[in-house]
Amino acid sequence: MAASKPRPETVAIHAGSEPDATTGAVVPPIHLSTTFERDADGSYPRGFVYTRSDNPNRRALEAVLAALQGGAAAAAFASGSAAASAVLRALPRGAHVLLPREIYHGIRKLVDGALAGPELRVDYVDMTDIAALEAAWREETALVWVETPSNPLLSITDLSPVCGLAHARGARVAVDATWTPPGVADPIALGADVVVHATTKYLSGHSDVLGGAVVTARADEVWERIIFLQRNEGAVPGPFDCWLAHRGLRTLPYRMRGHAANAEAVASFLAGHEAVARVHYPGLASHPGHAVAKRQMTSYGGMLSFRLRGGEAAAMAAAARTRLFTRATSLGGVESLIEHRASIEGPGSGTPADLLRLSVGLEHPDDLVADLAQALAG
Ligand SMILES: *Cc1c(COP(=O)(O)O)cnc(C)c1O
Repeated sequence: MAASKPRPETVAIHAGSEPDATTGAVVPPIHLSTTFERDADGSYPRGFVYTRSDNPNRRALEAVLAALQGGAAAAAFASGSAAASAVLRALPRGAHVLLPREIYHGIRKLVDGALAGPELRVDYVDMTDIAALEAAWREETALVWVETPSNPLLSITDLSPVCGLAHARGARVAVDATWTPPGVADPIALGADVVVHATTKYLSGHSDVLGGAVVTARADEVWERIIFLQRNEGAVPGPFDCWLAHRGLRTLPYRMRGHAANAEAVASFLAGHEAVARVHYPGLASHPGHAVAKRQMTSYGGMLSFRLRGGEAAAMAAAARTRLFTRATSLGGVESLIEHRASIEGPGSGTPADLLRLSVGLEHPDDLVADLAQALAG
């Protein structure tokens, strides 16, 4: 019988995970050593030299990330922001990048505060509008950055035409897929050249490790520059962080099903609530990006936001009353979080003040809905 291609649930558990050759340990040991022995002839027959360049735990994590994302290779970073920074700085000097206006605010802060300048020209466009993207195009545009659904309004960008336009003009497409981990969407199949993740979020999944990753569709010369930055700057996760992220990944496909099912239950409850003016969740038929999301996502993910009829005061009051949803930033952990996004984004944030963002966790959906019901009842 011909072996079938392993499915994501199987890949998540087996990729990068062989029993330890020396001890037989089924769970990989953590290799804290920063340096590795060479043979008398000067060679490194086991393939490791120094942990900044490579480490067994990082290599295992990268193997499972590449396999799950359907890429040629992966590089792990110390944070999602470090991963994004490496992708942008790997571009040739003077390159122009088009980024979405609705971009994760931390990446915008990093780009505007440190990366943009004569070496990297940037423009922000409405990425959901292909005509706007075309109008902003320049001769030296080398990269288009996509985040779909966007944070925190969950706007949907149709990836295929964006990739079609970029590739026809010799540019590349990077997708920040932090909100759409493997099992929720497949940006590489839709044409993305590189996929960026904050592994801090769903991939690790337990709110206990900071990390990032870049997965590439092809091991080409741009990829070589990303790897050069990773290995020579050393903005890399330590062995224990790699081990934690790898452990989290083993349950990713199952966790994502739970997050999506719970988010759908919460979104439909909120959509029918009189105190709620609007729910931003691509799984709702009323969402303007629903048709595109239906086509390019496998599920609608675990993130949503909603706006209160009573304005900012009502939003703050509701967030103050939840018991299961913890008031905290970040997302993608097993526990549900609620956040008044405009507050964390600070001055200059374009996020409506009456908006609350939810990272819907893996508690029972009825308990989550009951918690929101009591918080909204006031
Ligand atoms: C959190 C996040 C990042 C940044 O990741 P860090 O690990 O916090 O640096 C990037 N993009 C998105 C969409 C995120 O949610």
